Amino acid sequence: MKQYYYVDESDQSVGPVSAEELKGLHRAGMIKSTTLVTDALHENWRPLYDYQFAEAAPAAAVGVTECPACGEKIHVGVFASNALLPPDAVALINEYSPAQATHRCGKCGLGLWAEHQESLRREREDLVCRIQADLASIPILSLQSPLHWDYTVCGLVTAQTTTGTGVFAEFTASFTDIAGAQSKAYNEKIKAGENICKGILRMEALDLGANAVIAADIDYAEVGGGKGMLMVCMTGTAVLLRNPEILGSSAPESFQRLEALRDRLRHLSQYRVDSEA
Ligand SMILES: [Zn+2]
Repeated sequence: MKQYYYVDESDQSVGPVSAEELKGLHRAGMIKSTTLVTDALHENWRPLYDYQFAEAAPAAAVGVTECPACGEKIHVGVFASNALLPPDAVALINEYSPAQATHRCGKCGLGLWAEHQESLRREREDLVCRIQADLASIPILSLQSPLHWDYTVCGLVTAQTTTGTGVFAEFTASFTDIAGAQSKAYNEKIKAGENICKGILRMEALDLGANAVIAADIDYAEVGGGKGMLMVCMTGTAVLLRNPEILGSSAPESFQRLEALRDRLRHLSQYRVDSEA
């Protein structure tokens, strides 16, 4: 079986390892697509993705001797190297950078890659915030088929949450008005659990391309053996309402906004950030 060596973070060659082991290391994020690999010790070092077994081998990169973005020589060796970045890194840079490039090398790309991974994180967080702001416009109804709704069924949505550790422990200090205080705190825990479940149902519905949840059902159970933990479960049927104006004049606009935000978030999910590899 063919054996390989790779260069680790401290510039030491590590090996021998099999192609399968290299794949595993890559999947686990221990080595990157740009990690230099050779099949004969200290000769012909090439980035991992240049090999057949690399998961993201760009055929077009073979034969590239100069970086098309900055003109720097592509040189791979143990001591001095300037390798091309993996295609997903180039795509991420192109997403945020005004200058588009088919390939980028470490010299012109690594800084941009790090910068735009940060751009990606920020935009994702921003999108999630904006989705949450509009999410409540997705109605959740217990009705099986609301009157005058023109809809198609998208699928089942479910949510569970466990909340309220120490509901009872909170009352050991004071026994005054225990019944009243207890029920108030308990109600707050229930409400919090319900709200989390509703948020999850709405996110799931949005993900299915739906804009409403009907036939919703909610269940409560105490779990955790007397520790006062409360489980709230919700289920419902996600539907695409074709006449959203029935919900009010602002509903169609809210739905359009949510769909655009969801599509953008989906688009961005194709990029993998290094720390998530
Ligand atoms: Zn370059």
